[in-house]
Amino acid sequence: MITGPMFSGKSEELIRRLKRARIARQRVACFKPDIDLRYHRTAIASHSSLTHDASAVTTVEDLRAALFPQLDQVEVIGVDEVQFFSDAIVTLSVELVHLGKRIVMAGLDTTFTAEPFGPVPDLMAIADEVTKLSAVCMVCGAPAIHTQRLGQSQELVVVGAAGLYEARCRAHFHPWADEDGSEQLELPSAR
Ligand SMILES: [Zn+2]
Repeated sequence: MITGPMFSGKSEELIRRLKRARIARQRVACFKPDIDLRYHRTAIASHSSLTHDASAVTTVEDLRAALFPQLDQVEVIGVDEVQFFSDAIVTLSVELVHLGKRIVMAGLDTTFTAEPFGPVPDLMAIADEVTKLSAVCMVCGAPAIHTQRLGQSQELVVVGAAGLYEARCRAHFHPWADEDGSEQLELPSAR
């Protein structure tokens, strides 16, 4: 499990690991929720423009339906932006591990109100290994563990949208109000 705030290099780290698996001649399948429209529809992408082919799926059931027909040919499964999937991703992960698969997932640990995000806390708890990355505070340059929402965007889950979110340290993170003091909105429901 690779986690941390936005701009901490989670997708980059996921891509790095998947590429290493391919160098080791392991076959890789990669998925992302179709909510992630950053840069590519059929790839995961990091802010630093690394990419890896990925299938966009709407729900965990869709992921299962896309994966299982090719499961015999797959050794490593990557999932990006895993926070947007429902808790069913936890059960699926356990099932896949028991089938001998290696799963590498990346996702936000907390929302922009600093709440644990979707299935990520459970995935962190059961993972063999957790890598928690930090970003750099856009105000002071200190290590940042929070994602600050800027402005009043109604688009709650715009992924990778530069200008709508910033990484912030604890001192410069203001979870309960936007920079202009307005209240934040509810999170979208999981898929
Ligand atoms: Zn700071």
